[in-house]
Amino acid sequence: MTTTPGSPVFTLLPAWSAHEGAERVRTLFEATFGAPATGVWSAPGRVNLIGEHTDYNGGLCLPIALEHRCYAALSPRTDTLVRLVSAQGDGEVWEIDLADVSPGAVTGWGAYVAGVAWALREAGHDVTGFEGAVDSCVPFGAGLSSSASLEAAFAIAIDDIAGLGLGADDAGRSTLVAACVRAENEIAGAATGGMDQAASLRARDGYALALDCLDGSVHHEPFDPAGYELLVIDTRAPHELNDGQYASRRATCDAAAEVLGVATLREWLDAGTDLETSLAAALGRLVDDTTRRRVRHVLTEIDRTRAAFAAMQAGDWGTFGLLMDASHASLRDDYEVTVRELDLAVEAARTAGAIGARMTGGGFGGSAIALVPAGTSAAVATAVVGAFVAAGLREPAFLTSRAAGPAA
Ligand code: ADP
Ligand code: MG
Repeated sequence: MTTTPGSPVFTLLPAWSAHEGAERVRTLFEATFGAPATGVWSAPGRVNLIGEHTDYNGGLCLPIALEHRCYAALSPRTDTLVRLVSAQGDGEVWEIDLADVSPGAVTGWGAYVAGVAWALREAGHDVTGFEGAVDSCVPFGAGLSSSASLEAAFAIAIDDIAGLGLGADDAGRSTLVAACVRAENEIAGAATGGMDQAASLRARDGYALALDCLDGSVHHEPFDPAGYELLVIDTRAPHELNDGQYASRRATCDAAAEVLGVATLREWLDAGTDLETSLAAALGRLVDDTTRRRVRHVLTEIDRTRAAFAAMQAGDWGTFGLLMDASHASLRDDYEVTVRELDLAVEAARTAGAIGARMTGGGFGGSAIALVPAGTSAAVATAVVGAFVAAGLREPAFLTSRAAGPAA
């Protein structure tokens, strides 16, 4: 808790040091399984600066890895049993035999972990069972990718233990990303794109990850917004990607691409000479009003992400902030994935001096980000809390982070 004199108290969620995270998870492992773990690995949550709901459309996004990480302690077994415990769980050991893992057959949080081992085995890698303990300072279900950080922590751990060597370079890490995506889509049953896993496994300390989801290529751009800092607002509004809304947005985009005769909406955008031409041509061929708005979001968002990347390279944070605002408006009005709490967080942050603010992640609850003048995060957070209290909403929590490093 941090107090600003004369202002309401707000909750700041700190990132653990690597030492603290490792100690916590080693202790949990030993208390649960009765022997020390072979090792500890960790992977970050992420915030996406801009480029939302573009990943599964072959588009562009621009996440950074957070200092907040999921820690995993692990020891291999000689059989194919996976036994897991989480400090964020119910205290019970979650157990499955890898031979029993298949799409639709696994329930519970362990699906994210067993799914990674399953996907690596499906890809032909020699992966045994293991005991694993988890403890995380990535807030759970807050749109900051606790799920991908969980998958990535185990992906890098399994990679190390099994001696696969995939974590050694970016190409290998892309293979781990693919395994994590399969785990989340097919075993955990969440139809997310690939941004979260790529951010957690492929980001670079101090850099934003410019990810092209059409071919998986990345560019690392220094993220050091001179004169500004990033404030993350966890609205604590209920967030549940598995409830079908996310999958329904994705299905609408897939159907639109099919009508347009392209594999992804990104390809439709790039086939035109510019955004206006591509957009007008798409809207001319799509009749359903909802589909037209969804497509307008995707095409304009990919275009905004390009512009934001250029602004980042130029150090033009004023322009970057305006693009964040426009992204939020598009997600609110055209894509309809915001909720009252996200809209209020963005509006209150802007009123309190943010030069740009937007929801981040899949939406339907979760978190917002605000680019605020350096040194004003506490004042902006206080103003946001005030707005939530006045609206009768549960108080949000806050995080700050620099662009941190990947799973290791
Ligand atoms: P987000 O990724 O935005 O945090 P998701 O709904 O995608 O939200 O993922 C949250 C789910 O991931 C949880 O419901 C749980 O199943 C799993 N999860 C994430 N972190 C942990 C953890 N530390 N321990 C156990 N399960 C976790
Ligand atoms: Mg997630």
